[in-house]
Amino acid sequence: MKLYNTLTRQKEEFVPVEEGKVKMYVCGPTVYNYIHIGNARPMIVFDTVRRYMEYKGYDVNFVSNFTDVDDKIINKAIEEGTSAEEVSKRFIEECKKDMEGMNINPATTHPLATQEIDGMIEMIAKLIEKGYAYPAADGTVYYRTRKFKDYGKLSHKNIDDLQAGHRDIKVTGDLKEDALDFVLWKPKKEGEPYWESPWCNGRPGWHIECSVMSKKYLGDEIDIHAGGEDLIFPHHENEIAQSEAANGVEFSKYWMHNAFLNIDNKKMSKSLGNFFTVREVSEKYDLQVLRFFMLSAHYRSPLNFSADLMEAAKNGLERIVTAAEHIRHLQKSAAEGELTEEEQKALEESKSYQDKFETAMDDDFNTADGISAVFELVKFINTHTSAESTKGYLDALYDRFKTLCDVLGIILEKEEEMLDAEIENLIAERQAARKEKNFSRADEIRDLLLEKGIILKDTREGVQWKRA
Ligand code: AMP
Ligand code: ZN
Repeated sequence: MKLYNTLTRQKEEFVPVEEGKVKMYVCGPTVYNYIHIGNARPMIVFDTVRRYMEYKGYDVNFVSNFTDVDDKIINKAIEEGTSAEEVSKRFIEECKKDMEGMNINPATTHPLATQEIDGMIEMIAKLIEKGYAYPAADGTVYYRTRKFKDYGKLSHKNIDDLQAGHRDIKVTGDLKEDALDFVLWKPKKEGEPYWESPWCNGRPGWHIECSVMSKKYLGDEIDIHAGGEDLIFPHHENEIAQSEAANGVEFSKYWMHNAFLNIDNKKMSKSLGNFFTVREVSEKYDLQVLRFFMLSAHYRSPLNFSADLMEAAKNGLERIVTAAEHIRHLQKSAAEGELTEEEQKALEESKSYQDKFETAMDDDFNTADGISAVFELVKFINTHTSAESTKGYLDALYDRFKTLCDVLGIILEKEEEMLDAEIENLIAERQAARKEKNFSRADEIRDLLLEKGIILKDTREGVQWKRA
């Protein structure tokens, strides 16, 4: 399996730090609003990378944070007359709903920056002790960028060029030793959330958060660190400077970055009026369509969001889901018994599409070609199944099809929602069971409903229910 490493600017064979395991960190969103469809791209792409690694048999520890302290969150709280905590909590919940809609698996751990402040203070203290950081007179702690010899290795920037770009930024009264130095800890401003530290009451800089959360949940040396390409500089460059100076080992072996999502070939921005949240898209399309659309291009190619392309994605997805329904329909009345010789041959042939899929995915996660292989399998299914097919043959074919769709996160069978009438009937049956003191049956029904996401509440007026 090969992947493109931003650090070396080439495709490299993937060799994990620890055999059979993948430690992967993906920078998560800052939670001050509903996520937009640009934010959804790294989520979908790296969820698919994770799924493919799992398909290959790796045990993947996948960590993705929520940045829940930031100027944007604080501003939103002021605007709404509420607290930063309330804003971030609300949008983390909303983000998780969108993730579920896009069939993005929850991370092994979703750390929150505000819960990891102790670790940040510890790492900053270590950097000061090692001479890589210094507190200024006002309590701000800066990273001494020039001291880190490898600075610029990820973004392939030369530190002297950076210095030239910064020359006029350093103003009199600036407390930094050098214009390139960046903030690790900053003093609080009136009305802002803050934490106590040895330097001042304040809050962490953005970059230190990820260095610390990655270390805590994955260790000093990880396999893959990922995010959108705008994070290469300065965010990931600064993370490397912090982590490698503090820990004394290489931070991450591979760095993966997705290209941007544009709208009608323009950068998405609020002021241009071409800005969509995932929630808005969900009003028009099943979010499975958004997922499928994102995977229709290679993750390192810019992707253009347009109504036409979304319609194309919708049609493509429908072809896949219809093929699955077709097999399921045949399965219901298929005959048991041995596979015919012809079926055995056909199964063998269908494997070639799985091989094609793997070849595409092994080549830096080429989901576009992976999807083509799935379409070829769809065509094969439509031409090589009939009412005469045996059950064993259909089962095996369906398994192969579903395995590939699972890697892409395409859902072939939507769980039907329980109808209100069915729920009411079960509740009535539970009441009757209770009357007869058949409590085990009553509990069984309550559990069954809970499994379907129906929560019961016994009140004086009777049983009330709601969907979770
Ligand atoms: P943010 O909340 O701005 O830190 O962004 C969260 C993630 O979304 C980061 O990995 C960004 O690189 C990524 N991202 C933001 N905008 C876009 C976009 N238009 N296309 C692709 N990725 C994006
Ligand atoms: Zn980060």
